[in-house]
Amino acid sequence: MEIQKLKSIMDTSKSTVFLGGAGVSTESGIPDFRSAAGLYSKENEMGYPPEYLLSHSFFANETEKFFDYYRKNLIYPNAKPNKAHIALAELEKRGKLDAVITQNIDGLHALAGSKNVIEIHGSIYRNYCMSCNKTYGLEKVTLSEGVPRCDSCGGLVRPDVVLYEEGLNMKLLDSAINYIKNAETLIVGGTSLNVYPVAGLLEYFRGKNLVIINKTITSYDNRADLVFRDSIGDVLSGVL
Ligand code: ZN
Repeated sequence: MEIQKLKSIMDTSKSTVFLGGAGVSTESGIPDFRSAAGLYSKENEMGYPPEYLLSHSFFANETEKFFDYYRKNLIYPNAKPNKAHIALAELEKRGKLDAVITQNIDGLHALAGSKNVIEIHGSIYRNYCMSCNKTYGLEKVTLSEGVPRCDSCGGLVRPDVVLYEEGLNMKLLDSAINYIKNAETLIVGGTSLNVYPVAGLLEYFRGKNLVIINKTITSYDNRADLVFRDSIGDVLSGVL
C-alpha cells in the first residue's frame, strides 16, 4: 500500500520537510484562492478583479476598502486545525519532520502545535505599525473599524502578509530554500504547483524522495516518487 511506502520513507529519512499550499487549509473551511470554490470565483461587490483586492495598490490607494475586504474574506478566526495540521505537528513531535513551509497565512500549523513553521506569505496573526514598527496581534485588525491605527503613534497598522506586487521576505525564503536543499524527503501537499513561489522552491530539492499529495494532477507528478490523489489529512494521519 502507498501509505505503507510513505511510512517507511519517513521512518528512514534523515531529513523530511513538508511544503504546503492552500489545499492544506480547505478542510478547515478556508477557501483556496484559485480553486473552483475559492475566493477568485466569488463575486465581489466592488467589481474589482480578486488579484487587485489582495494587491499592494489596493492597500495603498483604497486602504479602508482593503481592510473591509481583508476582514471579511481573509480572516477566519474560528477556523480550527484539521487532520493534516494535527498529523504534521505530531510527526514533528516524533522527530520525523524537520519543518513545515507554508504559503497559508491562517496560522493553523502553529495552532495545531507545529514549532518550526516557515510562513512565506506571512500570517494574519502578526501585524505591525508602518511608522514605528510596534507589533500587534490579530485583534488589532478584527476589533478595529476602518483603518487600524497604532496606539503609540497613530501610524497605520498593516498585516504582516505578502500582498500581490510585494516581495517575499528574503530571510524566510532563504530559510525555506535551505530546508528544501538539505531535505532527503520532501512532501508537497495541497497545491497544484502552478504558482510562484512553491513551484520555484521545489526546484531546489536534491533529495531522494519527492512525495506529492493533492486532489488534482500537479505539474510535478511525473517527477515524484509517490503521488497521492487524496485528502492530505487522511494520508498524513495514516502514517502516524
Ligand atoms: Zn506606531
